[in-house]
Amino acid sequence: MRTETVPSIKETVVKLNQALCKKCGICAVFCKKEVLVQKQDQKIYIENAENCVGCRQCVNLCPDYAISLEVVE
Ligand code: SF4
Ligand code: SF4
Repeated sequence: MRTETVPSIKETVVKLNQALCKKCGICAVFCKKEVLVQKQDQKIYIENAENCVGCRQCVNLCPDYAISLEVVE
């Protein structure tokens, strides 16, 4: 019988460097889990952090490298 292992989903922690962020809002638009939210002051806030699935959309799309993703081992 053939068996396959599926990699487990690791816990990830998203971090935002406000000093680098120019508040373009791209990360908030593309984060489908609503972890990154742009509020009226245009700043990005991390909310619902536990909903992050580690897709890295935010990291890859941020033009200013303001977001990083830590994988919790
Ligand atoms: S994509 Fe980057 S620069 Fe733009 S709002 Fe998000 S963190 Fe800030
Ligand atoms: S890694 Fe994906 S789910 Fe997590 S904050 Fe970034 S875009 Fe949202």
